[in-house]
Amino acid sequence: MTNSPAHPRPLEGGCQCRAVRFRLPIQPPLLTALCHCRSCRRAHSAPAVAWALYAHGDVAFSGEPMQVYESSPGARRSFCARCGTALSFEADYLPGLIDIAIGSLDEPARLPPQMHSWDEERLPWLQTAVALPRHAAFPPMA
Ligand SMILES: [Zn+2]
Ligand SMILES: [Zn+2]
Repeated sequence: MTNSPAHPRPLEGGCQCRAVRFRLPIQPPLLTALCHCRSCRRAHSAPAVAWALYAHGDVAFSGEPMQVYESSPGARRSFCARCGTALSFEADYLPGLIDIAIGSLDEPARLPPQMHSWDEERLPWLQTAVALPRHAAFPPMA
């Protein structure tokens, strides 16, 4: 299952405008992964998406109800109806489970991914991105 330690306090998160909030259980997630699939890339407009998998009943949502989009048959992605932040993923092949986007956590550094999933669909340049020049904030403009 997982090697993550139990969290000292519940992880919380939500969308950018804070209309949707959630609280995760003290227990560690069943799985964490950085997903490189095309569907996640499209849904989040991001090169890859980090996920934490939980039992659906263990995640406490509050605030406004989310909008749901069926990204492929039997797969549903939920996002804030106000600000559009993509927050979760559920699928018929994952009954009773829900993936929470780690990037939506208030403290995402506390939940590191344990693996890469869908690596066969990974963007090639993501492999070498760690070696790119780094700027503490905006790069200098010429
Ligand atoms: Zn929002
Ligand atoms: Zn994916």
